[in-house]
Formats: sequence, C-alpha cells, structure tokens
Amino acid sequence: MTLRRMVKDTTGQDVYLCRGCQECDLPHVEEQDIPLGSLVQMIIFDDEEVLTCRTLWSEKVLEESGLACRRNLQLRAILLALRAEARQRGLA
Ligand code: SF4
Repeated sequence: MTLRRMVKDTTGQDVYLCRGCQECDLPHVEEQDIPLGSLVQMIIFDDEEVLTCRTLWSEKVLEESGLACRRNLQLRAILLALRAEARQRGLA
C-alpha cells in the first residue's frame, strides 16, 4: 500500500490537496531536516525516507502542526499516521 493510500485510509486526509505552497513551514523549529510541506510531498511520491526524517519525529513539529496547513489538511493526524506506519515497518 502506498503511503498516500495509508494516510487516506487512516486519517481521511488526501495529501493530493497539498499545493506545495510551504505556508506550513515552521522555520523557528530547529529539530527538522525537511520542511513540513516537503514532508507532505514525499508522501505523494511514496518516498519511504519520510518515515525516518527528523521532522516526522519532532515533538515540537507535532505540537505546532495542528493548524499549520492553509488548505486545511490535518497535518497532526498525518504525522501520527506516519509514525504508526514507521513503527509497523520496524523503522522507528
Ligand atoms: S500549507 Fe498545506 S498545502 Fe501548503 S505545503 Fe503545507 S501541507 Fe501543503
């Protein structure tokens, strides 16, 4: 199953709605290796590296992701689904 499908089935969120606008960027959060918007794009491209990136596992990012998307994607739910998937694949 693709990451996009897993996210859709688990959270009801369709990452195809992401426009890559990067307005969800959290530049003040240091513990990131990729911006939040790029993380969402990685889901679209089914890039498994998203499951091990520092941004995904940052508690600060998780905390601030709730209202970060301008297109109303529920980024916090998406991050939690990705974390669960990483654990299931033995990557966490
Ligand atoms: S704000 Fe929303 S639509 Fe824009 S890049 Fe971030 S996740 Fe995608």
